[in-house]
Amino acid sequence: MSELEKTTVPSKCSRCDRPMAEVPVCDYCHWLNPAAAGADYFTLLGLPRQFDLDEEWIRGKFLSVSRYTHPDFHATDNPQAQEMALRVSAAINDAYRTLRDPANRAAYLLELLGGKSSAEDRSIPDGFLATMMMMQEEIADARAVGDKSELDRLRDVLATQRDGLMRRIAGLFGEYQEAVACQAIGTDLLNEIRKQLNAVSYVKKLLSQTIAQPAAG
Ligand SMILES: [Zn+2]
Repeated sequence: MSELEKTTVPSKCSRCDRPMAEVPVCDYCHWLNPAAAGADYFTLLGLPRQFDLDEEWIRGKFLSVSRYTHPDFHATDNPQAQEMALRVSAAINDAYRTLRDPANRAAYLLELLGGKSSAEDRSIPDGFLATMMMMQEEIADARAVGDKSELDRLRDVLATQRDGLMRRIAGLFGEYQEAVACQAIGTDLLNEIRKQLNAVSYVKKLLSQTIAQPAAG
């Protein structure tokens, strides 16, 4: 078990001594848990540590947790409690921003599970670079002549590619969970997820280039 996995669900509230269900805030007295600011994003929002999460569910969890952690709610508390509210609230906002985007959620989960970061492992799927370089040229050509419909077409192609990669990543996370459940080592799967995620970053970068700039003059 990693250090991160051990974080922070306190058994009791440090103020009212009642059992705590949510990590950041006590259900009864709404006192904040100081350790919440350092908890991992899944724990913080009370979500299971998995890739497959419904976006509405993530949003619902975020809204219910942020209700009592928002600094406004603690405006009349002592300065120390107010400062803690700021920190916990910032962590919750970061958690929501990260987890609601599938690619960011995948990258975050991957590192939480001990996978490599994009800086540590820059590998991409076989043949992927050649396709992307071709696409990049097509985008550059379309931009040079301001061909908006061609840019729209390329954007569609890239979006389809990104969605395919994300489906593959979802499948790999599923396989990883099964492997871990059988006590198998899932390192190869994590490496494969990293590779696919690197490809997603590449596609996203090209996607941003398909957004046509307004014609000069
Ligand atoms: Zn309490």
